[in-house]
Amino acid sequence: MKLLSPLVESPMGHQVLRALQRLEAQRPNQLLVLTYHAVESLESFETQMNYLAANYEIVGMMDVVDAVAARKRLPPAALLITFDDAYRNFAECAWPVLRRNGLPVTLFVPTAFPGPEGRTRAGTAGDAPGRIYWWDRLEHALLTTTRRSDLDTPVGRLPMATAGQRRAALRRLKQYMWDLPHTEILAWLHEISDRLAVTAPRSEVMAWDELRHLKSQGVTLAPHSRTHPKMSRITAEQAHAEVAGSLADLQRETGPVLPVFAYPGGHYNKETVKALEKENFLLGFTTLRGTNYLPTARRLELRRNHIASNATLSALQARLLYGARLLNGWHTLRKKGPFRKNTKGYES
Ligand SMILES: [Zn+2]
Repeated sequence: MKLLSPLVESPMGHQVLRALQRLEAQRPNQLLVLTYHAVESLESFETQMNYLAANYEIVGMMDVVDAVAARKRLPPAALLITFDDAYRNFAECAWPVLRRNGLPVTLFVPTAFPGPEGRTRAGTAGDAPGRIYWWDRLEHALLTTTRRSDLDTPVGRLPMATAGQRRAALRRLKQYMWDLPHTEILAWLHEISDRLAVTAPRSEVMAWDELRHLKSQGVTLAPHSRTHPKMSRITAEQAHAEVAGSLADLQRETGPVLPVFAYPGGHYNKETVKALEKENFLLGFTTLRGTNYLPTARRLELRRNHIASNATLSALQARLLYGARLLNGWHTLRKKGPFRKNTKGYES
């Protein structure tokens, strides 16, 4: 994106890519997928949704499943909107805008996190530490602590005196923790929260009753693993348990669910794909950027393009242009390096 942004933003580059996009958009059965997490700016998000509604055919997950099964074709300029992680912010900010505009959406849920009851009900079951994402707990610990002395960590001694240093420490630790098994992440979070003298924040993940309510209003719910691990770093048995378990959880709690899966953090490998195949999943979504041409796309490795909800309209346009299918090969080479024979998106 860094390399392409100046090109996209130059008048000539923009025109060339716009022409490419128009050319591509005329082809049916081609799918762009966008990924959001939470809405930080309602105004920007509404602007983005108005733009998408006016310029794309927003399709639902069932349309994509039908197109992959060759039961029907996707219209030209088809675009699927997805949200990951089931933050309460989705229900409060994103869904009202999407619903008002008649835009279908899929919400990927890591099923170990929703509590039995929502915030409005009695009790604090939804705030159990295990129901808060580790990255949110880590951020809360590092950014709210009053500690200013250096912190000894597995990645070295990290200075904590200034806000900038605490943000840098957060980045280093987040990177380190992504590679740990889930149980070690929880143990390490417990320890660091003690050392930084902070308590766990409130859970911002929706409860099951809130998810059921969204589903009744038309939101498509889909599994996003159980514990949100880095799937490329867990065993084949664990991967299978995460994949099958999350589908079973979602079905038990919310009723019938389409067997489509989003890889947590976009991390996956051959074993993850095998686990999806074994459980008869129809679609798998990565975070590899680009467009999917469905007749030839690997259906368990579909591309998705992350976009911040507070991005400006020109940043959204640049992201959409950047997703042009003609650039798919370039994205892959850039991700894997030009000398690697394996040009698949997964980590070997
Ligand atoms: Zn996620």
